[in-house]
Amino acid sequence: MKRFEEKIAVVTGGCRGIGKAIAMRLASEGAKVYALDYKIPEPGEVFIEDAALAPLITPKQADVTSFESIQKVTDEILEESKRIDILINNAGVTRDNLLMRMSELEWDQVINTNLKGVFICTKVMTKPMMSQRYGRIVNIGSVVGSMGNAGQANYSSSKAGLIGFTKSIARELGSRNILVNCVAPGYVRTPMTDQLTDEQKAAFIVNIPLKRVAEPEDISNAVAFLASEDASYITGQVLHVNGGLLMD
Ligand code: NDP
Repeated sequence: MKRFEEKIAVVTGGCRGIGKAIAMRLASEGAKVYALDYKIPEPGEVFIEDAALAPLITPKQADVTSFESIQKVTDEILEESKRIDILINNAGVTRDNLLMRMSELEWDQVINTNLKGVFICTKVMTKPMMSQRYGRIVNIGSVVGSMGNAGQANYSSSKAGLIGFTKSIARELGSRNILVNCVAPGYVRTPMTDQLTDEQKAAFIVNIPLKRVAEPEDISNAVAFLASEDASYITGQVLHVNGGLLMD
């Protein structure tokens, strides 16, 4: 039996980057996955290249910053699939700038998506989890939520806030068999990070004991573990997946 057979999973920001890798990983182990995203593929467009997994992954348009949008998509999912077992809060944005130059808009956009968005999705989707007496929530943080990073005061604050949120909700929901954890990636190879120059990449890798950046699959492996029964006595934790860049 596959680890996620008969499980219904929701991955926010699930149509690209790390979220897509997570959606594919959960589906490869049997989950039916809803990939929520701001922009979703056109009808007929191949977005999951693996033909065996594609039928298990349904893209749905949603905006994590809007209660209305998340309530609507949650109602649709519940109508179709009756339950939500796993929520992966992955959608996130960056608007990097030094504090002196950071605008209020740049601050608000990052906090609204990365922190308030997680609050909205978790608040709405824990309702069915509470009546099921079962849920697994994994929030995608970042190493900079623990280390800080020049030029990312907004982003690192949002990811640090996510740690407090994870621990608080884990305490609130443990008695309902809802487990809440955080995976905090270091530097991950995605189209966004591919844009850095070779010098910038080399400067980063010099501080990573494993001497490479993470592949999206390194992150999805950790997420799948925390979403599975193998982690049934783990809640309120931050699992750092950063090649040793930060050792907590
Ligand atoms: P991407 O930008 O590749 O993917 C993020 C996805 O989230 C995009 O599809 C994006 O849509 C979507 N999204 C953004 N805002 C919203 C919204 N309001 N509602 C719904 N979907 C939204 O990022 P990554 O895959 O690199 O990052 C995924 C997560 O991992 C993020 O939380 C990020 O902070 C975290 N992370 C990433 C690291 C890295 O090195 N890449 C390192 C550490 C953490 P659209 O494209 O339309 O904006």
